[in-house]
Amino acid sequence: MFDDIALHSPHAIPYDSLFYKNVKITVKRLDLLHPQISGNKFFKLKYNFLEAKRLGFSKVLTFGGAYSNHIAATAYAADYYGFDSVGMIRGEELANRPLNPTLATAQTHGMHLHYVSREKYKSKNTPEFLAELNTQFPEHYLIPEGGTNALAIQGCQEILSDHDRTDFDVICCAVGTGGTLTGLIEASGEQQQVLGFSALKGDFLTNDVKQLTSKTHWHISDGYCCGGYAKTTAELLHFMYTFEQNYAIPLEQVYTAKMMLGIFDLIDQGKMTSDTRLLVIHSGGLQGRLTEMRSI
Ligand SMILES: *Cc1c(COP(=O)(O)O)cnc(C)c1O
Repeated sequence: MFDDIALHSPHAIPYDSLFYKNVKITVKRLDLLHPQISGNKFFKLKYNFLEAKRLGFSKVLTFGGAYSNHIAATAYAADYYGFDSVGMIRGEELANRPLNPTLATAQTHGMHLHYVSREKYKSKNTPEFLAELNTQFPEHYLIPEGGTNALAIQGCQEILSDHDRTDFDVICCAVGTGGTLTGLIEASGEQQQVLGFSALKGDFLTNDVKQLTSKTHWHISDGYCCGGYAKTTAELLHFMYTFEQNYAIPLEQVYTAKMMLGIFDLIDQGKMTSDTRLLVIHSGGLQGRLTEMRSI
């Protein structure tokens, strides 16, 4: 499963390199693995779907926001591998609105969309809510919000090759729930440093990741979250479009552009130099990219 539909072997993912102020940035293009099962979601979902199949489930259920890359990827994978899928979508008000492209695509792939109030969504991990779900949707394999669980972390360890462990000093990745970062931390060498650029405001992710790994060669910054999850600033969008024009690597505004903005800033500050062997994980997410060119 999954490896069979990848456009590139997960063991031979393409790299690009670019220079900014004499610093060489090597980009590992997970976004090129598959057009729908985007980037890191490929690795996060792989062992979850294998487990769902092993346990004999025919239905997967998961959670996400209206623009979630995880929802889009799960809907596609479920359809492709013959599972029914249910998406619990945050925001009751969306039920009465036309579907945005993410949700429309999910529905095209057969995902049953259910809208949950923001308040209820917050209680999605409580035993009461989970019991209710089991009554409403019997016999489902549950994938948590953003897909992060032990099997997702196991999958994300496969992002790094042996060369990635020896040829680089610093590994950078965008962070949403921290599952991908944890996989990278677990798979990297302790002589390396793993830097997470948070798409969300607040330092709770540092605590979350501490629960997931005992290793300490990592750091998460929310300094480039641009106000919070899915928030954008004129500076961010300007950076994103300029980057794409200069380097011909597409980014999106929720995760990868914020990470790259942070990396360029660390280079500006002299915290990464021409001596730093830098590996940047392009985690995909391009289905959610803002496509209209804004006046910048
Ligand atoms: C989901 C996603 C992330 C965040 O991954 P986590 O494992 O939740 O931290 C990062 N980048 C992109 C493009 C994503 O879609």
